[in-house]
Amino acid sequence: MNKRNHKNNGNLQRVMTIAAGNGDMGFVREVEKRSGADLSACFHCRCCAGGCPFIEAMDYAPHGIIRLAQLGLRDEVLQSATIWTCVGCHTCSIACPMAIDMAAVMDAMRGIALETDAAIAEPDVLDFHREVLRSIERYGRTHKLEIMMRYKVKTRDWFTDMDVGLRMLAKRKLDLLPSKVKNTQDLKRMFRETAERGTP
Ligand code: SF4
Ligand code: SF4
Repeated sequence: MNKRNHKNNGNLQRVMTIAAGNGDMGFVREVEKRSGADLSACFHCRCCAGGCPFIEAMDYAPHGIIRLAQLGLRDEVLQSATIWTCVGCHTCSIACPMAIDMAAVMDAMRGIALETDAAIAEPDVLDFHREVLRSIERYGRTHKLEIMMRYKVKTRDWFTDMDVGLRMLAKRKLDLLPSKVKNTQDLKRMFRETAERGTP
């Protein structure tokens, strides 16, 4: 077991010790409703954690997040880095013997975190998500160079991964100008209606 997984397990054991059965069980029902997943089906075999390519960057392993939710530990879940580190790759869902859609679970948790103004553990990740969405709203496609530039301006982190960006430019993997779908009106309407419904 690596160092980070030790940390994941340590965090989880600490939280389970303080749970003491007074969690918010409405929270787990809400996550289940939004994700369509039955969290009570998880029996903590850890197959999800074994295959997750981003577990090193998480504070709780994927199965740990499910355990926190089962215990109704809403704040621990919503303030975790894990829900923002998950990229929704579905590697864990393929490995899960109970077919739990972890990506949908994390998505539901992120939505609740935004709607309830929970403290966001990884604000840079949220900024990046927003820049991607803005690009889709504007062009109907992602313009990667603009997303990267806007993200850099927002985070003021100018030099991290600069070498990768320059190599991508040299290999023409980054278009200087955006390409646009013909009809962006439907997209704009979709974004407007979503905003009016109050989804962040
Ligand atoms: S693989 Fe599925 S059942 Fe196993 S711990 Fe992960 S979510 Fe739970
Ligand atoms: S969907 Fe998320 S939790 Fe599952 S393997 Fe991918 S990054 Fe890890």
